Amino acid sequence: LKSILKRPDLLCEAAFVAGDWVAAQGRASFAVTNPARGDVIANVPDLNRAEVANAIKSAEAAQKPWAARPAKERAQILRKWFDLLMANQEDLAVIMTAEQGKPLAEARGEVAYGASFIEWFGEEAKRVYGETIPGHMADKRITVIKQPIGVAAGITPWNFPNAMIARKVAPALAAGCAFVVRPASQTPLSALAMAKLAEEAGLPKGLFSVVTSEDAAGIGKEFCENPIVRKLTFTGSTEVGRILLRQAADQVMKCSMELGGNAPFIVFDDADLDAAVEGAIACKFRNNGQTCVCANRIYVQKGVYDAFAAKFATAVNALRVGDGLADGTTLGPLIEAKAIDKVQSHLDDALAKGATVLTGGKPHDLGGLFFEPTIISNATKDMTVSTDETFGPFAPLFMFEDEDDVIFQANDTIFGLASYFYAKDLSRVTKVAEALEYGIVGVNTGIISTEVAPFGGVKQSGLGREGSSHGIEDYLEMKYICVGV
Ligand code: ADP
Repeated sequence: LKSILKRPDLLCEAAFVAGDWVAAQGRASFAVTNPARGDVIANVPDLNRAEVANAIKSAEAAQKPWAARPAKERAQILRKWFDLLMANQEDLAVIMTAEQGKPLAEARGEVAYGASFIEWFGEEAKRVYGETIPGHMADKRITVIKQPIGVAAGITPWNFPNAMIARKVAPALAAGCAFVVRPASQTPLSALAMAKLAEEAGLPKGLFSVVTSEDAAGIGKEFCENPIVRKLTFTGSTEVGRILLRQAADQVMKCSMELGGNAPFIVFDDADLDAAVEGAIACKFRNNGQTCVCANRIYVQKGVYDAFAAKFATAVNALRVGDGLADGTTLGPLIEAKAIDKVQSHLDDALAKGATVLTGGKPHDLGGLFFEPTIISNATKDMTVSTDETFGPFAPLFMFEDEDDVIFQANDTIFGLASYFYAKDLSRVTKVAEALEYGIVGVNTGIISTEVAPFGGVKQSGLGREGSSHGIEDYLEMKYICVGV
């Protein structure tokens, strides 16, 4: 892998702790493998709780002087980091594809997407405005200021190894917080490469640490129990989110949670079917179905069901499965064997309950972690896929007749992250967009992620919003100052 990088030093086999690089060699470490090929691409340190506590301590020391600097200075360093990320986009993309599996074109896109948060929040740092409020008595003056929460800790998943970190560290640093992140153990290399460039951009020592560890639960406890940590931000499953919220309760810690989804994708009979197919491909098969905003349930109105199914199957058959580093690949491998098992179990369950396979339906001939992109027809609500996120290349088609019924079915879930629908009638568009109980609604589009809009879920999909001018609020405290005159 090093030989194809312009900057081989971006492939780091060391963790970034308290401003120092802790090498994997000669100490407890773990291997990072390429899911497309199965080979080990690097070893990184397996840090213990005491080492993570050290990172937190140095974050505390670095935070106050950082917060005291004018916002413009913080913004300039973030801007420099953004520039370095973009200047090294190709290397960062290659490292990401090697550890995560997504096609190189998607990895390039993710590097730019991640970097965009760093650019955006650097700009937002300068606009953390307070308020003045007319006093409630003749001799009182009231102002509200916003201050950084302090040391923030983050736990991130493997599906977006760069962007899920960027979306948290950027607002944290912009606000004047320090940040310690534990990246998923499957994909620590993108995080470490980002840290290398952050150091080059001039981020003060200790302000940002990337703590690699296989001990997810132990590090999660350290983040929740260490009294220095004032804020926990997590992206991952609802199941782990619940554990962290319970743990964080003891310190009444502020939490941001980006959890699971179960996105409905609805095609009404007045939809532009070609556009709907294009949207469904983008939204279902991006990252091989491994995103929390991927369509999980595709509802198609009866009058256009057969036409949509045929066009969708044609488009799916044109997808090219393979190694993400190879030219022309549009679908990579799944991340691990457990992920293949989940796709297979959702498929088996659906077939046992009366579904039929339209295309795909089995592990791919390439073997390993590859699975054929699959569509099933006649999906029904008693199937596991209707309540549980597949996180893989499995697209179930549900037929519906009535608008109110599909809204009910779409909302009949504990989750509320992203939802999508295709329709042209203006009153339908307005009514359905308002009725969907989701934090995000894509109307006539399958792609909704951008740094300028608030990303986040309702119900058990999470707490807080990332991105947009609102995203920085999760890292700020409001202080009301009453002056007697
Ligand atoms: P995914 O299915 O995406 O792996 P998880 O919620 O299991 O979702 O994992 C998201 C992140 O949370 C990963 O970095 C994982 O290592 C970490 N994690 C898993 N279990 C715990 C836990 N008990 N405490 C803290 N972090 C955890």
